[in-house]
Amino acid sequence: MTTVLTSASPLTAADRCDRCGAQAYLRVVLLSGGELLFCAHHGRKFEPELKKIAAEIQDETERLTADQTSAPEEER
Ligand SMILES: [Zn+2]
Repeated sequence: MTTVLTSASPLTAADRCDRCGAQAYLRVVLLSGGELLFCAHHGRKFEPELKKIAAEIQDETERLTADQTSAPEEER
C-alpha cells in the first residue's frame, strides 16, 4: 500500500475532474489512501460526502475566482 504524503503541490491544467473532465481545483486525499480530483462545481456538490471520507482536502477554488473576475455562479 502506498502512503500518500501530501506535498501540497499545486493543481495544474493537467489535473482533471474525475466526474466531468474539467480542470480540477480540488484534490481530495482519501482516508483509504487514494486520491480524487474535482472541478469547483463537483467539489462543491460532493463536499458533504467527501468530508466523511477525506483525510485532507486541498481546495484551490479561490484561484478560479481570481482568474475569472466575472465568473457566473453555477446552479447547485
Ligand atoms: Zn467536474
